[in-house]
Amino acid sequence: MRTYIKDLNKEIDKEVLVEAWVKVRRDQGKMIFLDLRDVSGVVQAVILPFHKEALEVSNALRTEWCVSINAKVNKRPEKNIKTDVQNGDIELEVLNINVLNESNTPPFDLTTDGLEVNEEVRLKYRYLDLRRERLSKTLKNRSKVQQFIRNYLIDNNNFTEVETPLLSAPTPEGSRSYVVPSRLWKDNFYSLPQSPQQYKQLLMVGGIERYFQFARCMRDEDTRGDRQPEFTQLDMELSFVSEEDIINLNEDLIIKTVEKFYPEKKIQQIPFPRMSYKEAMEKYGNDRPDIREDKNDSDLLAFLWVVDFPMFEKTSEDNLDGTGEWTFTHNPFSRPRDEYMNDFVEKKNIGNILTTQYDITLNGFEIGGGSLRNHKGDILRKTFEIMGYDKEKIDRMFGHMIEALDFGAPPHGGIAWGFDRFIMLMENEPNIREVIPFAKTGEGKDLMMNAPSGISDKQKKELGLKFEVKG
Ligand code: ASP
Repeated sequence: MRTYIKDLNKEIDKEVLVEAWVKVRRDQGKMIFLDLRDVSGVVQAVILPFHKEALEVSNALRTEWCVSINAKVNKRPEKNIKTDVQNGDIELEVLNINVLNESNTPPFDLTTDGLEVNEEVRLKYRYLDLRRERLSKTLKNRSKVQQFIRNYLIDNNNFTEVETPLLSAPTPEGSRSYVVPSRLWKDNFYSLPQSPQQYKQLLMVGGIERYFQFARCMRDEDTRGDRQPEFTQLDMELSFVSEEDIINLNEDLIIKTVEKFYPEKKIQQIPFPRMSYKEAMEKYGNDRPDIREDKNDSDLLAFLWVVDFPMFEKTSEDNLDGTGEWTFTHNPFSRPRDEYMNDFVEKKNIGNILTTQYDITLNGFEIGGGSLRNHKGDILRKTFEIMGYDKEKIDRMFGHMIEALDFGAPPHGGIAWGFDRFIMLMENEPNIREVIPFAKTGEGKDLMMNAPSGISDKQKKELGLKFEVKG
């Protein structure tokens, strides 16, 4: 039976089987020391001169070889005890070593935090990079936080976790969609979701009432700093709720998550303060202000809700939907604030209409956003009319949503967190690639898998695709 390295201190004076990687090998002539690493931690092992066979095997050992070791767990003599490292009070006396697999020399040092290594090389050899303690710790924490959120939502708040399709039709989120050609239906394409927005609203029509999902979202954007072409949202939608209900539930979940997993962090203000979009722009010049009282304190968390966004903005060059004079600012399905409903329905004073959109920011980063939705078909139609769509275009693009809402859709609203960014900030990581197991470069390349890459002529033929420019 294998013993995990984290449990070795319970086996003092006993013989154990450890399966692990050689993190470090130190040859001291007569003796060899190894630092062994498995998923649960690190321990020092020593091969003493009289264990001849083990010594011979360990002469050949190199870092990152995968081994299985029979050893005795010894308490270290008082003078050798290290209190600041895991297993600093014990040592493995190796009896026997079995090499499970040799390793080529890794392209970089795996014993550091890795931030000094060229990132492209790290991404190309991500499977090695993941052996780094910093990355494995982050991934484990990410998974524990996810588990906690699942319990909170499912067990205590009546949510249902639902997986929505990846092969779908376009849903606008202010970006380009990735498209997938259909082989069976030539000249037709699926879109990969920019978010599950339409599905989650349709789940509300379906009576699910409270949905969430750790949803993979794909947005085809030009290189923009700390963005990834695919990322994870904690996506939610709720029926029969007010803006306050959604804000309060999310605030409570965030506070509990911070308290449980990041107790060293301090939340600047509870309940989280709120600021209008107008005030944020006037005072800070952006809509995700960093309101930390001490910007040097890496454990200070200053959450802020930004509210009262304009519902529409003028279309412009970089506006992907530049068909009419106006376009939505955040989400075409959002509902205006009640006091602007008349103007909205009458399509008057469009630039002044405020929406129910709420964004949540943390230390200058937008970490989430959502809104209440227009849950009546004829009202939703107005949004697209204001955007200059004619009836044919509205019916073609959103007819299914309008039709669904007309079957007694409940009032509903939701929110999505940028989950990678949330974890990045909790883990004090410098960018989201550090908390995404298989991240792409800023230019959208997966250097490990070599994607994107060409497809064969056979595949092109099957898909009925012809390319004019080979790039
Ligand atoms: N679908 C929105 C987004 O991706 C979030 C929401 O409104 O619930 O930003």
